[in-house]
Amino acid sequence: MRFIFIVFLVLLTSCDEEAVSSRIDGEYCMALVQKQIDFGPRVLNSKAAKVTTEWIASEAKKAGWEVEIDEWTEKHRGKVNTYRNVICTLPGEGKDFILLGSHYDTKTIAGMPNFVSANDGGSSTALLIELMKHIPKGGKSVRMVHFDGEECEVNYAHNDGLHGSKRYASQLVLSGELRNCKAMILLDMIADKDLHIAIPANGDDSLKDLALEVAKKNNWSQHFSKGKTSVLDDHVPFVDLGVPAIDLIDFNYGPNNSYWHTEADTIEKLSPRSFEIVGEVTLQMLEKLR
Ligand SMILES: [Zn+2]
Repeated sequence: MRFIFIVFLVLLTSCDEEAVSSRIDGEYCMALVQKQIDFGPRVLNSKAAKVTTEWIASEAKKAGWEVEIDEWTEKHRGKVNTYRNVICTLPGEGKDFILLGSHYDTKTIAGMPNFVSANDGGSSTALLIELMKHIPKGGKSVRMVHFDGEECEVNYAHNDGLHGSKRYASQLVLSGELRNCKAMILLDMIADKDLHIAIPANGDDSLKDLALEVAKKNNWSQHFSKGKTSVLDDHVPFVDLGVPAIDLIDFNYGPNNSYWHTEADTIEKLSPRSFEIVGEVTLQMLEKLR
């Protein structure tokens, strides 16, 4: 009886999710979020937004990726806005590629000067930078686009919100590369301490299955599920063009999502472990897709 009990205990310990290792350095990701907070809110037309793009580009070069900053303007409500996408490439074999994405912009919210957007934009930007060090050469090329202008100024519309992802999707159409984009994984709001990624319904079923399969293999099933609702996010312009895409987003941040788009979206709400879990799942998905 005692032996059986010990065996049971050993089995329990071996299934402990904290024991599952990750290649991602969660503490380093936290430092990358703090860095963005120190730049200031990365709001539309701000110096902080420009500085953030230069920082992302320099981190990408350090990791050995090719980088291009695509800058353009759009007129909205009588005002000219400047946007920048940071396009990072790890060249691979053949023309096909896997696309990773995240937005780095902070929503401009009147009367909320202390909105630092640690999780909403900050977390996924940090994780993409950390991921660049761990994605090996070999296999299909990987493109990582840090989108600007995900947040809308007033309400999501054809000319408000998702500016960076719409721009990049249309560039793929114009260059004839759309057919080579074999999958898109979008990361957004991925570091809540209370991590649960309910993958939005508007996404590719086989990519959802792959995410859940990888999570299960690592004993992280409690952090991932298939959500029942759709989310308007930077994966949508690619879904609309027929690219298999999913959004890894934890869109339940604080009680009833009450930290989202408020001054409660601070770094204290994040956990290094959440970065490690989502980052490792993304790495293993990439291995299968390449
Ligand atoms: Zn947002």
